[in-house]
Amino acid sequence: MTRKLVAGNWKMHGTKADLSQIAALATAHPAPRIDILICPPATLLAQAAGLAADSAVMIGAQDCHAAASGAHTGDISAPMLADAGAGAVILGHSERREHHHENNELVAEKARAAHAAGLIAVICLGETLAQREAAQTLEVIAAQLHASVPDGSTATNTVIAYEPVWAIGTGLTPTDAQIAEVHGLIRSLLAERLGGAAATALRLLYGGSVKPANAAGIFAIADVDGALVGGASLKAEDFSPIIMTL
Ligand code: PEP
Repeated sequence: MTRKLVAGNWKMHGTKADLSQIAALATAHPAPRIDILICPPATLLAQAAGLAADSAVMIGAQDCHAAASGAHTGDISAPMLADAGAGAVILGHSERREHHHENNELVAEKARAAHAAGLIAVICLGETLAQREAAQTLEVIAAQLHASVPDGSTATNTVIAYEPVWAIGTGLTPTDAQIAEVHGLIRSLLAERLGGAAATALRLLYGGSVKPANAAGIFAIADVDGALVGGASLKAEDFSPIIMTL
């Protein structure tokens, strides 16, 4: 059976002082039953990776450029992330889709670059509140999945995170039935695309206001293989109980 995964997205939070949180996680979970991923800001990647080396904590990045190198001021490529010690990269987070105008096609290009660099692409999908209220959730997710997940994606090099935009950082979460419905759709579309075995093994994370208090309920939902956690991943004292829940 595929190992579950709990991933933390630090977003634009964290300085060197916060590396102690990663050290604390590594110490608290020497032999976890699940995979643990922390995605600090790029400025901390190399130090975080050094600190987490030989531990069960994998370090990842929050974005990459689609090209391997070039005249792209301020951007960071997937091979550079791998060189810094990252093992994964979050792609297509709704904050990047919204504030950096990233579309599905660009996300797919970035995922291809991540795969070529040997990184796991954690590809985020999610509907806005307006789309949910207009009963468009399933078609939005299907379109995002179709266009954001490149050919060549496997259970080993790709993770999908369902993150309803309206649940991120708001304290709101979908009902269990709503999460199950979307995860079930993603699993069945992946089966058509990649085949049943790959679709079953590919990890589907739920993200959006996951906290120690609601983690157990969310992890019990069908087709939920872990979580992508924002705010509650910043402190080991919040993230650890979520890890322990799985
Ligand atoms: C996220 O940003 O991916 C996220 C899920 O944030 P939060 O857990 O804070 O809602």
